Amino acid sequence: MRIILVGPPGCGKGTQAKLLSKRMKIEHIGTGDLLREAIRNETSVGRRAKPYVEVGNLVPDELVNDLVSERFQRDDRPKGFILDGYPRTLMQAKNLDTVLSSHSLPLTAVVLLDVCDTEIVKRVTGRWSCPKLGCKATFHTLSNPSKVPRICDDCQTVMVQREDDHVETVKSRLTVYHKDTVPLLPYYEQHNLLNKIHGTGEIEEIYQSMVNALRI
Ligand code: AMP
Repeated sequence: MRIILVGPPGCGKGTQAKLLSKRMKIEHIGTGDLLREAIRNETSVGRRAKPYVEVGNLVPDELVNDLVSERFQRDDRPKGFILDGYPRTLMQAKNLDTVLSSHSLPLTAVVLLDVCDTEIVKRVTGRWSCPKLGCKATFHTLSNPSKVPRICDDCQTVMVQREDDHVETVKSRLTVYHKDTVPLLPYYEQHNLLNKIHGTGEIEEIYQSMVNALRI
């Protein structure tokens, strides 16, 4: 199964991608996570990406295309995967098509997690995540609170709020989403790959809608 999850920032892509990856035993490739890790480790990719990520702009296509392409150049490239947060522009979508077709790994489906802008702004301010590598659990003060506020249920690390989850940054990320990422929807619709599902409700309900849409 080879899936792309698309949706506005804060729509729950990361949460659903982690669930699908665990339950279907497919690799989760989240470019936002990869970039944040590179920034934390101060790698050259991290240093180049940092100024864009901090203000909620997209990092240049070449940089993120290279990150994803490298993963597929390796011998242990995943045959099944869920891409979360990539592609985000038409240029990235076309790069992905080239990479996947060169390894004969056609996409199974693209899932849009649809959530309106007002709901997104409400959601992101309550979002907390575990910074520990290998854990990366996420919680939300309203919809999925941790047992002890700000402490990760899974590994008891003190959680952090993302720099780019402040209200003004989120509004600007939404503007970027509508301008650069929404054009992917007709692109994948033309390729008969697009499945739209409502991204509101309980995490398990949304997961079920996704499973139904994917007929898995
Ligand atoms: P995310 O965690 O997916 O919301 O991504 C966080 C930030 O990482 C975004 O606001 C962008 O600055 C950057 N980013 C992640 N994925 C991409 C991508 N495919 N193209 C460009 N920038 C990206």
